[in-house]
Amino acid sequence: MMCYNAFVQTLTLRCTLKPTPEQAAALEETVRRFAEGCNHALRVAKEHGEFRRFRLHHLVYNDLRSMGLSANLAVQAIARVGRKKGSRAKFYQPTSCTFDARTLSLRGESVSLTTVSGRMVIPMRLGNYQRGLLARAKSVQGGVLTRGPKGKWYIHLSLRVETPEPPTGGGKVVGVDLGQKALATLSTGVQFSGGSLKGKRLHYLKKRAEVRGKLDRPFERTRGVKRLWARLTGREARFVNHTLHTLARRIVDGLEPGDTLAIEDLTGLRGRTTKRGSTERHLHHLWPYARFRSLLEYKAALKGVRVVAVDPRHTSQGCPRCGHTARENRRSQALFRCTACGFQHNADWVAATNIAQRAGSMGVGRSKPARILRVSSVHRPPLESPRL
Ligand SMILES: [Zn+2]
Repeated sequence: MMCYNAFVQTLTLRCTLKPTPEQAAALEETVRRFAEGCNHALRVAKEHGEFRRFRLHHLVYNDLRSMGLSANLAVQAIARVGRKKGSRAKFYQPTSCTFDARTLSLRGESVSLTTVSGRMVIPMRLGNYQRGLLARAKSVQGGVLTRGPKGKWYIHLSLRVETPEPPTGGGKVVGVDLGQKALATLSTGVQFSGGSLKGKRLHYLKKRAEVRGKLDRPFERTRGVKRLWARLTGREARFVNHTLHTLARRIVDGLEPGDTLAIEDLTGLRGRTTKRGSTERHLHHLWPYARFRSLLEYKAALKGVRVVAVDPRHTSQGCPRCGHTARENRRSQALFRCTACGFQHNADWVAATNIAQRAGSMGVGRSKPARILRVSSVHRPPLESPRL
């Protein structure tokens, strides 16, 4: 066994709460008063043009206390309003409330919260994923209580989790190419299929366009149609969420502590019009890159795997054998064939390999063509959103 120096990372873990009816009523009253407090603080902040937290505290703290907020909730309300410079928020809905380490703590598989009706210990519904993270958590820093559209209660716990420091040197560099046809391709040759993400999302896009049409026509705007709209939106969100989590987990599962994962730095690509045609650009919106990258980063961190982002330009056009870079190298969506040396391989694998090379794996000409191993990355998503 190797021993790593640990360092600590903060993660958010969402858990479903199972409050009794009395507890639910207390939560309801807590978020209601918290929102009242936020709205009052916002009003005062706007009147005085004062959003600096410390100043705002002096202006409203006593009011908030007399409105029935505990000292901690008053401070949290001020923090919410004060944080937003010149606040863009117009109004706070009573759907969430922030707790800190003094007002929130964990009691086994329950969470203890200070509500307006006093301290309450509320059971959480946990899956293996949540149990695993909670077991690793060094401490809980607080959390945000939220109420979903169907009146379900969630707690987003802010956990300090010890993560192994990636050992230096020795690890392999694996490049990952994110795509439309194949969800992701690794430079090791593993390819996660799943036009499903794109296909499914296009399917939802179409479905919703139909429903949208009905919503726009007053006579067809019935309660049933509105509900259908909400249901579709929720279903799609859960599907995408599940797909991204599964994919990230499966990529990280194949790596060892000390390895490096190289991905394209696609932040800001959306606005760019070169390189991609309009359909592909459109589809790009269906690939929630930023969210996927943050999932990958924290799952990798938990395992002691580094993630580096590299310049994405021309990764699909460079030849991994001779370095010749030309648009003509890309014969089709699927096939790469170098016009200089004749090297040919799966185009996604070539991109993944170039990404790995940019992150410092072996130089041009030294990477062996990998055999492509296709695995399906997604199965049917669960009915309930299981995590974060
Ligand atoms: Zn070549």
